[in-house]
Amino acid sequence: MSQKCSKCNSPAVYLRRYTSEALCKSCLIKTTLSRVRRTINRKKMLQRGDRVAVAISGGKDSAVLLDVLHRIESNFPDSELIPVTIDEGIKGYRDEALESAKALVHSLGLKLEVRSFEDIFGLSLDEVVQLRSDVTVGACSYCGVLRRRALNTAALDIGADVIATGHNLDDEAQTIMMNMMRGDSQRIVRTNRPRDKPIEGLVSRIKPILELSERDVVAYSHHLELPYHDVPCPYYREAMRNDLRDFLNEMEHKRPGTLLAILRSGEAIAASLEANTHAFQSERCEKCGEVTSGQICKVCRLMDELPKRERIAD
Ligand code: SF4
Ligand code: ZN
Repeated sequence: MSQKCSKCNSPAVYLRRYTSEALCKSCLIKTTLSRVRRTINRKKMLQRGDRVAVAISGGKDSAVLLDVLHRIESNFPDSELIPVTIDEGIKGYRDEALESAKALVHSLGLKLEVRSFEDIFGLSLDEVVQLRSDVTVGACSYCGVLRRRALNTAALDIGADVIATGHNLDDEAQTIMMNMMRGDSQRIVRTNRPRDKPIEGLVSRIKPILELSERDVVAYSHHLELPYHDVPCPYYREAMRNDLRDFLNEMEHKRPGTLLAILRSGEAIAASLEANTHAFQSERCEKCGEVTSGQICKVCRLMDELPKRERIAD
């Protein structure tokens, strides 16, 4: 790339299309930090003195999340970052990703908290997948529900005020479109829940790199040489998300700013739906006592469907 940086005239290493900026490495870092800072302030994600559980998968999104938060939070010594990895128990995948997560966390002088499905639910994801009788329920459905619970349990356990996750702009735009295509607008409200409207028993979630595109994340992690694991999970098979990714990438390429426009639309839909819907009725699951909107939570429903006699935890 022979272009000059739009900010300082040094040789550029990255072209951020949706802002039409060519950036050198130093300005890539600076503008990334200020973008994330702006998102955090706009959505009032963090407060002074927060203990922030940072969900680390070993992949590049969470590597960028932790690196950026670590730089931003270094100005706030009363806040604390606690990296947490949930080990789902996926042979040949999670063990390697865990090594990358450890390398990253240790390079920043932090300590990694690891919690496993095995410890919390008595079964690894591999075992759940083998035991399931209904093969139409994909591994990711179990994994998503169990990981959400595991992360909440871990965050409560370490006394975190908030959980930060590494969802980027592309993920978020795909999720909004997927929810719309499934007719599930309520889910757009749930995934956009602001921190100042917490639900008792659930640690609030924030997405600080929400306005960084996948390209931004790749550029940042590449130029900072962050350690991350880039091998896809063996269970990954989300057809709808893949189709949408291709389609949205093409749209973003032709019309830079499309992804951000979808994000803003999702936020506007969530805000207006929330104003017009009843407040989330938080109940406690009759079996496990965790927060749910019905009588039995989704974790218990999924786990109850597995054949009992094989269960390690029972
Ligand atoms: Fe879990 Fe699916 Fe992600 Fe694999 S691809 S880690 S099974 S949600
Ligand atoms: Zn339950």
